[in-house]
Amino acid sequence: MLKRVLIANRGEIALRILRACRELGIETVAVYSEADQEALHVQLAGQAVCIGPARAADSYLNQEALLTVAQATGCDGIHPGYGFLSENADFADACAQAGLTFIGPSGDAIRKAGSKSAARSLMQAAGVPVTPGSDGPVASVEAALAAAESVGYPVLLKASAGGGGRGIRRVEQPEDLPGAYAEAKAEAKACFGDDEMYLEKLVLRPRHIEFQVLADRCGHTIHLGDRDCSVQRRNQKLIEEAPAWCLTPALRARMGDAAVRAAQAVGYENAGTVEFLLDSDGEHFYFMEMNTRIQVEHGVTELVTGVDLVREQLRIASGLSLDIRQEDVVLHGHAIECRINAEDPLHGFRPCPGKVDFLHFPGGNGVRVDSCLYNGCTLSPYYDSMAAKLLAHAPTRVQAIRKMRRCLEEFCLEGFPTNAELSYQILYHPEFILSQCTTAFLDEHLEELLAFNRKLDESEASL
Ligand code: ADP
Ligand code: ADP
Ligand code: MG
Repeated sequence: MLKRVLIANRGEIALRILRACRELGIETVAVYSEADQEALHVQLAGQAVCIGPARAADSYLNQEALLTVAQATGCDGIHPGYGFLSENADFADACAQAGLTFIGPSGDAIRKAGSKSAARSLMQAAGVPVTPGSDGPVASVEAALAAAESVGYPVLLKASAGGGGRGIRRVEQPEDLPGAYAEAKAEAKACFGDDEMYLEKLVLRPRHIEFQVLADRCGHTIHLGDRDCSVQRRNQKLIEEAPAWCLTPALRARMGDAAVRAAQAVGYENAGTVEFLLDSDGEHFYFMEMNTRIQVEHGVTELVTGVDLVREQLRIASGLSLDIRQEDVVLHGHAIECRINAEDPLHGFRPCPGKVDFLHFPGGNGVRVDSCLYNGCTLSPYYDSMAAKLLAHAPTRVQAIRKMRRCLEEFCLEGFPTNAELSYQILYHPEFILSQCTTAFLDEHLEELLAFNRKLDESEASL
């Protein structure tokens, strides 16, 4: 088993990893930027080392500093979490070269899955369905126009290196393509340092259904069921559930098989997620991308399967064989996660981190809160605006919805605006209750969902 792990991340995921290490008797080394001196992951780690200024490029993305600290503190493994260097193939290779175990797949597997346009061809060859789209990247507006013509409008322009919903533009007609192409390319360049684009047919009113996979070094690849992440704003997930209510056992088995094939096609090891779009016919599904890391919403899968995914990551990276087989995976009850972000839904969702003046988290039976916030701390403007993940688990979906409503009623955060009230309204929306939400739901119903927020805001302003 690994003995000492450097956690190359921050925020709630750094805490999550730290906790799993503790429970396995693995020592932890935290790193932090100058902006994170007071952070909880720094306080709770065995040791903590400052690696540079607030800007991520100067700290959490500084590969040399991370490797130097790992070696100087005698670590044998590095856990990258999500975001930052988690899907950086060169970093995975650099760890291996430095004699450190990268807790994730090989650089080669990250490379294969990481270019979303190249992954499409690999998946096709492995018999995993993909949406109609460009064969490989589209290197010019002309190439994009030709590809769009052949798949038919509307289309989605997507960045090969994309993540977090960025570098994506919807195009309804040829006239709009050149502008969208330039915009998406610029956004991709700024966010990922890579502006290669590809193109897919836009699937109308689909659901986002993803499968959690685990693969060990001994040749076992299994899936741990599915998550429905259709409640999204601008291609970013807001509420996630496990299992996906719309899947019949037969469709779940077919999609699960495809997810396992997808992982095997890239020579995958460790925990990963295969994302699919499920067509509105509820039958056809298409591979979208493979995320080669632990996912933000992994907790809902843990609640319904009873499997600790970060523990499995650490065991797999230590060379141990999976101790669960596919037939041992049983889904118990239903779990829902709400991402609480420091953002103001009434003002275009602008991020608004700040000092936490008062904080109370819900608790009780079947409730889990993953957050690095505490009373008096400051949520830094330099990084992601996610403040907490609230999770509820109950025997049935309706009970899980009721429990999550109760959680949001108890939850109290003073100091900056959040999307908590919006999530609460979603949990009362008939489409959500009936599990009919597609990825279009939130954008289509946003004004109606924000009406209560707006009234509250107006009445407060008039006091
Ligand atoms: P998930 O599918 O796990 O919910 P998201 O796409 O929401 O993942 O991204 C998770 C986190 O990782 C977010 O903080 C997001 O900003 C960050 N992230 C995702 N992809 C990238 C990337 N390619 N580069 C940098 N950060 C990324
Ligand atoms: P990212 O790497 O940013 O997560 P994805 O390829 O996973 O990018 O797409 C993000 C979201 O965009 C999906 O969850 C889905 O809602 C939407 N999307 C992506 N591709 C398509 C498509 N071909 N048709 C319709 N919606 C899509
Ligand atoms: Mg995605």
